[in-house]
Amino acid sequence: MRIIKTVAGMRRFSRSAHGLGKKIGFVPTMGFFHEGHLSLIRRARKECDIIVVSIFVNPTQFGPQEDLERYPRDLSRDKRLARECGTDIIFAPSVAEMYPEGYSTFVEEEQLSRYLCGRSRPGHFRGVSTVVLKLFNIVMPDIAYFGLKDAQQALIIKRMVSDLNVDVRIRVMPIVREPDGLALSSRNQYLAPDEREAALILHKALTAAKIMIDTGERSGSTMRSGLRKLIAREKHARIDYVEVVDADTLERVERLKGKVMIALAIHIGRTRLIDNIVIRIPRK
Ligand code: AMP
Repeated sequence: MRIIKTVAGMRRFSRSAHGLGKKIGFVPTMGFFHEGHLSLIRRARKECDIIVVSIFVNPTQFGPQEDLERYPRDLSRDKRLARECGTDIIFAPSVAEMYPEGYSTFVEEEQLSRYLCGRSRPGHFRGVSTVVLKLFNIVMPDIAYFGLKDAQQALIIKRMVSDLNVDVRIRVMPIVREPDGLALSSRNQYLAPDEREAALILHKALTAAKIMIDTGERSGSTMRSGLRKLIAREKHARIDYVEVVDADTLERVERLKGKVMIALAIHIGRTRLIDNIVIRIPRK
C-alpha cells in the first residue's frame, strides 16, 4: 500500500493504472475508520482492480461553529485498517494541496440540498459536492462508494454526477451498526458513557417508525409528532430534525406511499448524530 499526498502524484498513478486497463474503485472518507468505512473498502475490493481510499477532513463542509478542529484523526491506525482490507493507495492531501491560495470555485446542487442537513448546516453540501468533484477529477475512479448512513449526501452526489456528466458509477452501501443498533460514526468517539446510552434513542425512534408503518400508520405528521414525543423523553437528546420524506426527492410526505425515508438529526450533548431508515410502503 502506498500513501500519496499530492494531486500530481495521484493523477499520475491513476493515469497509468487506466493505461494498464485497471478498474479503479474509490472510497472518499474523512478518516478515523470504523466498520462503516471498511465495508465500503471491502466492497470496492471485490469489484475493482485498484482500490484508492482518500482521507481528507474537508474544511469547506464544516460550518464556523462546527467540530472541524476536534474531528478525530488517527492516520497510523487508518493505514493499518485500510491495508488489512486490501487498499492499494491512500490519498491523503493537505488542506493547502486541495485549496491553494486563491481557490475560488465551488459546486452547488440546488434542489436536494435544501432539505434535512442542508437546512441545518448551511454550506455543508456545497463543501461536500466541491470536494467530491475535485476528488473524482484527481482520482478518476470507475466506481465510487458511499454509505447510506449519509443518505442525503449520496443522493446529492448521484445528482451532481448525472447533472455534470461525470464519468463515474456511484454505489451506495447499507448502514453498518453496533450490535445494539447505534449507527457507526467517527463522531460516536465524542460520546461520554451516559451519552453513548442516550444515543440509542435514534435507533429506537427508527425502530418505532418501522413498527408504526407495519401496523398501518400512513400519516407523515402523526409519525413525526409521535417520534418527536418519543425522542423528547431522552434527557440528553435535543432534536435538530425529525423528518418523514420521499426517499428520492427528500420532500416531506403527508400521506406515506412508495419509498419513504425517516431521517433524524439529534444532538446528544455536544455531539450531533444522524441516522435514517428507508422503507418501501406496501401497496394496499
Ligand atoms: P466520513 O468519513 O464520515 O465522511 O464517511 C465516509 C463514507 O463512509 C461516507 O460515504 C459515509 O456515508 C460512509 N459511512 C459512514 N458511516 C457509515 C456507516 N455506519 N455505515 C455505512 N457507511 C458509513
